Amino acid sequence: MKLTFENRIALVTGAGRGIGRAIAEDLAAEGVKVICVSRSAESCGSAAEAIKANGGDAVAHAVDVSDGAAVAELADQLIKEYGKIDILVNNAGITRDMLIMRMKNEDWDAVIQTNLNSCFYWSKALAQPMARGRWGRMINITSVIGLMGNAGQANYAAAKAGIIGLSKSLAREFAKRNVTVNCVAPGFIQTDMTGELTDEIKGEIQKNIPLRRLGTVEDISKMVTFLASAEAGYITGQTFTVDGGMVM
Ligand code: NDP
Repeated sequence: MKLTFENRIALVTGAGRGIGRAIAEDLAAEGVKVICVSRSAESCGSAAEAIKANGGDAVAHAVDVSDGAAVAELADQLIKEYGKIDILVNNAGITRDMLIMRMKNEDWDAVIQTNLNSCFYWSKALAQPMARGRWGRMINITSVIGLMGNAGQANYAAAKAGIIGLSKSLAREFAKRNVTVNCVAPGFIQTDMTGELTDEIKGEIQKNIPLRRLGTVEDISKMVTFLASAEAGYITGQTFTVDGGMVM
């Protein structure tokens, strides 16, 4: 299917590496101008350079997405510069895994701040300009862990489940303005985040995936790109699991 993107501008958080970078590259390949955001200037800068080297249009901005004031300031600056942002992909995320008895308050806070509060900050900053333009797409990257829970990931599961509730509420708030809000819930995807797992653990995980492999970043970016397109205009408030069949 040929997807339609008419003069669209997207902002992708966590675009420096892994899933976010694949999303930025896919959107750029569809002709979308992409604002690549990540924590380090080097990381988002290299993503934007790679997109430009392939003939796409991209810029890079480093910001800590867990800092609400910094996000609001950057969002303001970008709206002034470009006039609009049509597509927001909240993808930046971290893990700080630990069984709850030993989980430090800082590890709880950091995961909630980076994964969940960041979605609130960006949505709040960009919803109004999208509503004004009567067109918008918000796509939030949650996780199968937000649907299933996981021992040792109470902070991450809570943040990812929170993203789903936030998205459903925003879908209802902004539907009349033609702004859709959806989530993509990846299973286990090969990135730096899962690169820390031992081969033994990866083998165990694979046994529980009906399609018998870890996912690729493209498995996720293709779904996000579809949800960002004009063709997905009648879909809102949904969570799409892309996990090789783990959650059915
Ligand atoms: P990576 O660890 O490979 O990349 C994370 C990206 O997020 C990096 O670009 C990083 O920036 C950015 N980031 C992290 N913290 C901040 C911050 N405070 N401010 C700005 N940017 C930040 O992650 P993945 O690609 O694996 O994961 C992407 C998303 O998908 C996450 O939300 C994750 O929870 C989710 N997910 C991943 C799964 C997997 O199996 N990999 C499974 C399910 C969900 P920098 O490059 O500058 O460090």
